[in-house]
Amino acid sequence: MAADKRIALGLDVGGTSFTVGAFDADGAQACDKLANFPTPVTSRSEDVLSALEGALRSQVEGCEAQISGVGVGIPGVVDPLTGHVFVCPNLPALDNTPTGSILSERLGLPVFMNNDAYCATLAELRWGAGRDVENLVLLTLGTGIGGGVALNNKVNRGPRQILGEIGHLVLEPKGPRCGCGNHGCFEALAGRDGIVNRTLRKIQEGKPTSLLARLGDDWKAVWEDIPKIVADEAGKGDSVAEDIMAETGFWIGVGICSAIVLCDPDLVIIGGGISAAGDVLFDPIRRTVEARSRISRGKFDVANIVRAELGRDAGVCGAAALVWERLAQG
Ligand SMILES: [Zn+2]
Repeated sequence: MAADKRIALGLDVGGTSFTVGAFDADGAQACDKLANFPTPVTSRSEDVLSALEGALRSQVEGCEAQISGVGVGIPGVVDPLTGHVFVCPNLPALDNTPTGSILSERLGLPVFMNNDAYCATLAELRWGAGRDVENLVLLTLGTGIGGGVALNNKVNRGPRQILGEIGHLVLEPKGPRCGCGNHGCFEALAGRDGIVNRTLRKIQEGKPTSLLARLGDDWKAVWEDIPKIVADEAGKGDSVAEDIMAETGFWIGVGICSAIVLCDPDLVIIGGGISAAGDVLFDPIRRTVEARSRISRGKFDVANIVRAELGRDAGVCGAAALVWERLAQG
């Protein structure tokens, strides 16, 4: 690689692992491959900071390009201007630490930080499924439902950084309890536990299903994988699994209808593990939005509900995109 080539390092920090990668200003991966590291299990901020620093240094070694800066996505609340981490629920060792300024001083590089949902949304907006639009809603389906909103080609998190926390839209006030303490949140209905509870209920109805053999006797052992197992069996035509996906897709569609009237997006992008399920999930989502998004000037075109393109790499891509965004702002 030419020595005058400029790159940005991205660092996506998670509670169990973190990922580092180098990207040029067009989003092409530069230098080494993406590298994954386990997040240290510790209450000491210094242990985590040294691990992050070491991972970033390992990516730089042998790379001849000039590094313009480092972007870091954090699963918590961070001041994007100073890089101060206020609270990081899955990695409390970083609570109340000036992570950005410490890493910047140690590496001798500018470090820019933001929330991980912001980074994932920025990645899809710049380099992913949303690269040709300026307004989008991203839904990331997983254990919970994360999300992000971009308007006028900018990711918006709002003054208190809650804009786009779409998983906590209340869709059914008397519905199941959510981790946030409320009832009937989008996440409680269509996140992992929502799908697992639906599966349990459907199986108890007693219809024959291939799910019984796939789940075995110890559900707890496969709990994390249940949404994927249901999606697989639905894809093979099991009618009980199809019902579970249809009901899940219905709730996702209802959530999207609310997002559409709040954000007026050009595109709704769906990411996260279960987005790989394909038509068994997207068909009921599109049917629901088709039937329920009758707004005064015409319906939302359901062809604009699409799958995310960057997958698991969205976080690390977006962290690097953060560098180019902030440098362009001067
Ligand atoms: Zn909630």
